[in-house]
Amino acid sequence: MSPFDLLSHSIAQEFKHLKTSRRNFLRNSATVAALAAGGVAMKPGSTLAQQNELPTRGEYLVRNAHVLSMDPVIGDIAGGDVHIRGGNIVAVGENLAAPQAEVINGEDMIVLPGLVETHWHIWTTMLRSMSGDEAQFGYFPTSRGIGAHYVAEDMYHSGRLALAEAAYSGTTFVHDWCHNVRSPEYAQAALRALGESGLRARFSYGSAAGQAADEPLDFADIRALHESWSTYSDNDRLRLGLAWRGAGSSVSLDDYQRARELDLPVSVHVNNFQSNAGGIAAIDAVGMLGPEVQLIHAIWSSPEEIRAVAASGASLSLSPYTELRIGFGLPMTQEYLAAGVPIGLSVDTPTLSGNADMFAIMKAILNIANGKALDEFALTARRVLELATIEGARSMGVDAVTGSLSPGKRADLIMVNTRHVNLGVFTDPAHMLVEAAQPSNVDTVIADGRILKRDGALLNADVDAIIDSARSALSGVRARADWW
Ligand SMILES: [Zn+2]
Repeated sequence: MSPFDLLSHSIAQEFKHLKTSRRNFLRNSATVAALAAGGVAMKPGSTLAQQNELPTRGEYLVRNAHVLSMDPVIGDIAGGDVHIRGGNIVAVGENLAAPQAEVINGEDMIVLPGLVETHWHIWTTMLRSMSGDEAQFGYFPTSRGIGAHYVAEDMYHSGRLALAEAAYSGTTFVHDWCHNVRSPEYAQAALRALGESGLRARFSYGSAAGQAADEPLDFADIRALHESWSTYSDNDRLRLGLAWRGAGSSVSLDDYQRARELDLPVSVHVNNFQSNAGGIAAIDAVGMLGPEVQLIHAIWSSPEEIRAVAASGASLSLSPYTELRIGFGLPMTQEYLAAGVPIGLSVDTPTLSGNADMFAIMKAILNIANGKALDEFALTARRVLELATIEGARSMGVDAVTGSLSPGKRADLIMVNTRHVNLGVFTDPAHMLVEAAQPSNVDTVIADGRILKRDGALLNADVDAIIDSARSALSGVRARADWW
């Protein structure tokens, strides 16, 4: 530690008691509020969403917008309407009649499916931008070192911050890749944040940060969750999966088998460093590649591995901002697309990426692909927009319910206001979304038929309270970890 660090450390220790008192006050306040809402002990037959009183699902008609349906049959409609009722998309077209619907003015708006995020360690969100500049403060020591000191409620507070950012930014599906389940209460706290968010999600149940490779996952808890999943799912808004540690140990191979016995989808990090190339070949060698498997990063894949992934029906998740920031390398977007592998885009961890801006992630994917190819036309904005919507949904196995504005699908859509200075003119809408748009341009977010953001403001998230709780939780865990 430098003298400055020592000084900061002692000041931090001085304030530790004060912060702890404040944290306890906040936690007690939260407990009182949760008790008042009936959110601590679940009422039989009720769901998390009902308990938290998410916005009701109304009947809406988005009128006269520039619709990018991402549905190949419907296509784009300039001056189009979208009719939503009871959480479903009823119709997409021109001059729709819906006399009972509340009209949402779509003038100057681009309307598109909610963005689909495919791999996010949501519990690390409150460790935002904490990956330091020296090896001992890099991402892995930081997330593991602090993660080992999380209390269960920290999962909730980090989740609330992450999911508020997601909703604000136009992301209506997230994949919570939860690898800090230190006891069943940690999974419960993470699930509570997902339930209350109103967003569509997969919760992938994983290990605890720092858990030994030969220590199995808590399958008693995973089975219990699976059996009572209707209590959590809010009518299939949330799904359950396995955050798999890969084919490196017999214990982990058993985890895979147990998850597949429950028909759970599986997600795994592979080939992220050049030094661990061959990870896909190892999974293929034990017969564990398949359509239920999502691979993450796969930066260092051989042509044989790419062919094996394509043949198996497995999908890929790419998180360019963390892959660049940590030095994994450049995503193999073009190679995997050429092989026909479904690709989704992802945040991974704000500890490295900073934020969860899916517009920026789209732009990075496009620009890296063209830069690698030395070709302005290697990848198109429209194709990247597909990865962030319908193809991302396909990669997560949820394309029957989300990812495009198609009648019969659930109503997950966003409206981007083009009357902002970073947009302003109306040119090619796909290029505008991928290259120019940013989260603050998202005017309206509807997830599963519920309006979560309107006129640029979140409706079901008290942002000040969420930030206070996340700050308090972070100072608590830093104090316990002695990490400043
Ligand atoms: Zn990851």
